[in-house]
Amino acid sequence: MTGKRTGIPNRHLTYPLAHPTVPFPHSDTPTACQTAPQWFSHEQTSTRAAEKDIAKAKHACASCPIVQGCLKWALANPDMTHVGVWAATTTRERSALRRRMIQRLGPDWVAVVADRERAREQRRQAARYHPPATRQGALARLEHELIPTRPPAYEPWREPITPARAAANRRVLAQALRKGAAA
Ligand code: SF4
Repeated sequence: MTGKRTGIPNRHLTYPLAHPTVPFPHSDTPTACQTAPQWFSHEQTSTRAAEKDIAKAKHACASCPIVQGCLKWALANPDMTHVGVWAATTTRERSALRRRMIQRLGPDWVAVVADRERAREQRRQAARYHPPATRQGALARLEHELIPTRPPAYEPWREPITPARAAANRRVLAQALRKGAAA
């Protein structure tokens, strides 16, 4: 796919140049770039009409359900996205974002992003199959219920000594001294 922007990549076709580790996300509903591709195909804001279309495209992307995945795909595939608006970004903005990604994650940033994505997906799958669910939830609730009524920890060395306890200690000491003197 080169040249003019004509909508999102058709997932039924294969794009041999597309980065294999960052698939284009799936949307159950048609996206704005499919229903109004004319807003998305401008190269730059050279005319007032182009400027308006780009603003409309960006606005539409902002509420697109796959905007995050679309942005990752567009950044990972510069050769296929060198024209038009993708995920609310223009060509120049995408170039700037790519430079930032290289600065933060290194020249192989696409692989780093793909790895993170895979790990996140695995965690999501694991959570789906082993939900923290009922038992952990019940334990957390129980803990929450018990904490306010839990008695304070027994820490006698932190308590100030009472006059009664001081008098008792003196009696014990005096008794011990008397016994010692008599022996
Ligand atoms: S974010 Fe924008 S460019 Fe990407 S699929 Fe959605 S509408 Fe199209």
